[in-house]
Amino acid sequence: MSNPVSHVLPAGTDAVVGQIRDAIVSRQRFLITSHARPDGDSIGSQLAMAFALDALGKQSRIINADRAPDHYYEFPGLGRIEIAAEVPADAIADAVIVMECGDLTRTGVRGFEERYIINIDHHAGNRMYGAINWFDESAAACSEMVYDVIGALGVPMSLEIATHIYLAILTDTGSFHHSNITPRTFDICRQTVEAGVNPAIMARRVYDSNSFGKLKLIGALLDQMELVHDGRVAVLRLDDDVLASCGCTNNDTEGIINLPLTAREIQAVVFFRTTAEGEVRVSMRSKYDVDVRMVANEHGGGGHKNAAGFTVTGPLHELQPLIVERLVRAVDEGLESRPPE
Ligand code: 5GP
Ligand code: MN
Repeated sequence: MSNPVSHVLPAGTDAVVGQIRDAIVSRQRFLITSHARPDGDSIGSQLAMAFALDALGKQSRIINADRAPDHYYEFPGLGRIEIAAEVPADAIADAVIVMECGDLTRTGVRGFEERYIINIDHHAGNRMYGAINWFDESAAACSEMVYDVIGALGVPMSLEIATHIYLAILTDTGSFHHSNITPRTFDICRQTVEAGVNPAIMARRVYDSNSFGKLKLIGALLDQMELVHDGRVAVLRLDDDVLASCGCTNNDTEGIINLPLTAREIQAVVFFRTTAEGEVRVSMRSKYDVDVRMVANEHGGGGHKNAAGFTVTGPLHELQPLIVERLVRAVDEGLESRPPE
């Protein structure tokens, strides 16, 4: 069963959504991309858009720098995603739809630069690099914006489209934990459920598909977790050796960072992932008004208030105290505006 998408656009967005609609209607061949190391929102936004383009009889290819985590491959259309470091020579297109990327380097794919770009994103600090730029920080997930574009195109909410819109919202809100959720978020989710999405199945597939190795890894990481600032900040560290000793791959690290936040006192978590090449990948999560995006911005990264990250090179023993001290400050500032529980 498929319902027509009918809704009112958020205030002030009619013009840009209309531009995107017209740009899509008047073109035939599209490339779709999103950020490197894709998450549920990048996967869901891209595939919802691809299925909508299918419905309009348009051609599209999805080109990403990295594979999605394995469990996403249960969702429709994942096999369509091509993995490449450079846009393939035969990828002829009239436009590129870039979602979830503050700038083009976030794609991790070279070769989009000279193309006609439609930029759709909800990360603060978007560089407006497209021919059309739609940036809405108030969207809980980029897929809320994709939903608007699909509605403007008059494409019915098929089960595939609904599944990917819901997947993106479910994951980008941290399964409805983050502070960017609005009535609109639930209104869109309601429509996806009406179109046939089963929230229980979605939650099980996304969050309850761990390997046994991942459970071991969770145990190992939480066992060595450090608590600072009276337990308000948690620090997790992972290197290749620990990963291998649990029989895990990078794929298995997704979501572990959220676990410390289940402790009442913990307001922010930082996860340091060191690699053999000397890179440190830093992920952060927080509650309420504790702003970890500001911390990521100071190191060339980005994200959202409650979920952000960056990558640096350099020894962890120098980086860790700086970041932890900065997070302590973010926690103190955020606590001042914390809502009563
Ligand atoms: P994660 O910690 O799951 O990798 O990322 C959390 C959030 O921060 C996501 O919205 C992601 O797009 C953003 N993010 C993570 N790393 C970077 C980065 O290096 N640069 C930017 N601009 N955003 C990032
Ligand atoms: Mn997102």
